[in-house]
Amino acid sequence: MGTLELDGVSKVFPDGDGEVVAVDDVDIEMRDGEFLVVVGPSGCGKSTTLRMVAGLETVTDGEIRLAGSVINDVKPQHRDIAMVFQSYALYPHMTVQENMAFGLEESTDLSDDEIETRVTDAAGTMGIGELLDRKPSDLSGGQQQRVALGRAIVRDPEVFLMDEPLSNLDAKLRSEMRTELQRLQAELDVTTMYVTHDQTEAMTMGDRIAILNAGELQQVATPLECYHEPANRFVAGFIGEPSMNFFEVERDADTLLGDAFDYPLSESTLGDIGDITDLTLGVRPEDISLADDPAGEHTFSTVVEVVEPMGDENTVYLRFEDAPEGETFIATVGGLQQISVGDEVHVEIPEETIHLFDGT
Ligand code: ADP
Repeated sequence: MGTLELDGVSKVFPDGDGEVVAVDDVDIEMRDGEFLVVVGPSGCGKSTTLRMVAGLETVTDGEIRLAGSVINDVKPQHRDIAMVFQSYALYPHMTVQENMAFGLEESTDLSDDEIETRVTDAAGTMGIGELLDRKPSDLSGGQQQRVALGRAIVRDPEVFLMDEPLSNLDAKLRSEMRTELQRLQAELDVTTMYVTHDQTEAMTMGDRIAILNAGELQQVATPLECYHEPANRFVAGFIGEPSMNFFEVERDADTLLGDAFDYPLSESTLGDIGDITDLTLGVRPEDISLADDPAGEHTFSTVVEVVEPMGDENTVYLRFEDAPEGETFIATVGGLQQISVGDEVHVEIPEETIHLFDGT
């Protein structure tokens, strides 16, 4: 069973005279066969987390358990884990066949015949059966990536760890490999921890995503939960493209007062926010719509500052009529709507779509 648990895991690196807390008390429980994407901005501790699971970094505090057993002190080659790196890390002087067989010869007692069968099977799964006699330098980036994955599969591990495995591929190949990796993971049903800074990869690939910021875990949930019910403002701003709009507001009785707009709240929303007075109001660009009724309770008069046609929809930069020039927010509206720079338009921000966060 490939359950993987991180229990209060921290990593502190020495840094000159001081220290840097790269990973801060992280708890993650992965079920057998789960695909978990660890995502966050550069430097938030993703790679360090993965490297601790792989055994390439020591754990400063906490426990890592694989199938229920603590593996903190187990050597990397004995962890039953296979890692795929961004750089592929193929041996240049070996053929594809030799690259794929190498790990098995090192760490298992399999016979030559068994190794050959495993390599052939894995090469078949990855569609690289024709390339077994080639050297890495004679392969495209996409093919090298397949070999790197094949080398992980051949070991038949309990857990795959992948560190930005698609970031060296061009956009088209990256999207193809994204689909391919999902197919592969579903077929092999191996617990997979996948690190990326790319929220699109996180949203499309993960059964669940774990969002890190400054070494701290912000939320672990399905992509849709993170999108619709972000745990905090950081998650709300990180997940979703274009990003959620945020407005600092102050509550006065039953109304949120922004710099350039007033937003009345219903009893039920007021109940949710309790005594908090300083809040951030968030709204996703796709939840803002052009209003039929300019007198609606949550309808606002705005000016169009920029229009970016995106094919079937437009990304529109709007400014509340009373806001200073350049202080814009984003709405995505249907591409058939005629909107031009300088237009005055009424937009609706429905109350059921807004997100409220404590503090500004
Ligand atoms: P990410 O993968 O999210 O970009 P990392 O896990 O690589 O982030 O790094 C997290 C933090 O730990 C960063 O501040 C980084 O500078 C620091 N760090 C990583 N590795 C080391 C190291 N070997 N020595 C000192 N600091 C490190």
